[in-house]
Amino acid sequence: LAFRLTILGSSGALPAIGRFPTSQYLTIQNRHFLIDCGEGAQIQMSRFQVPVNKIDHIFISHLHGDHYLGLMPFLFSLHLNKRKDDLHLYSPKGLDEIITLQLKYSKSALNYRLIFHPFNPEAITTLFEDDAMTVETIPLRHKLECAGFLFREKPKLRRMNKDRLSEGLKLQHIVQLKNGEDVFNDNGKLLYRNSDYTLPPRPSHSYAYCSDTAWNENMIEQIKGVSLLYHESTFMDADEDKALETKHSTASQAATIAQRAGVKKLLLGHFSARYKKLEMLLAEALPLFHNTELAIEGASFTLEE
Ligand SMILES: [Zn+2]
Ligand SMILES: [Zn+2]
Repeated sequence: LAFRLTILGSSGALPAIGRFPTSQYLTIQNRHFLIDCGEGAQIQMSRFQVPVNKIDHIFISHLHGDHYLGLMPFLFSLHLNKRKDDLHLYSPKGLDEIITLQLKYSKSALNYRLIFHPFNPEAITTLFEDDAMTVETIPLRHKLECAGFLFREKPKLRRMNKDRLSEGLKLQHIVQLKNGEDVFNDNGKLLYRNSDYTLPPRPSHSYAYCSDTAWNENMIEQIKGVSLLYHESTFMDADEDKALETKHSTASQAATIAQRAGVKKLLLGHFSARYKKLEMLLAEALPLFHNTELAIEGASFTLEE
């Protein structure tokens, strides 16, 4: 599976029966990411069969407890499971101090290396980049310094047309064709015309994760047209004053952002414990943005090739 998101938890700050606080597992082309790590995240990871040892990068949006209090126990479990590989932690400043202090007073040394990458949540910054994708921060408006994350696949190579493969193509020719070039011989004679031998590349997908934020028009430009947007919707419209006061969003605000950014699909999450039936939040978003779903624990969202 090339691009898949699994919801591990989507509850707001207070405990709610049957709901875990925020955490998500994202896999893109065999890369494995954890996004936020609320209390109990490792329980959810084992429940939903997340390959925990393959996770090398953890992104923490901000240091409110419901987004990272599951991290320390998870780090200890990785240690007990004899992890050796480096683990990269991205967060606003302070997380390194918090974790180092806990390790210090438990007289523990992990048998793998933690590499901290503190970032400035107020600026758009590229945190991760390799040959296939990038991750950048999305500045958000919240009570505490907070950033979302934008995961974006780079443009993919053209695909070889399988019907034309048997014509003695050399590997170097295939590389050229996949890169969109025509292939010429040494005398400059056209050997293979690109359009005869290749098909368009598969689509590149993108995922914008916007954890805790008040109404925030500033991010619309940055997340324009993404394949999938997760936007918090802590409150219903009737509690809009609460949203203002706590710097959270309502379901219809989330849907309005999705609509104005022209995203393909919206997921609502970070639900307040006051709501027993989450369908009521969905019902407020749907008239404004049709392709909306609730980020229910255990749900997976696959972006097709
Ligand atoms: Zn929160
Ligand atoms: Zn928060």
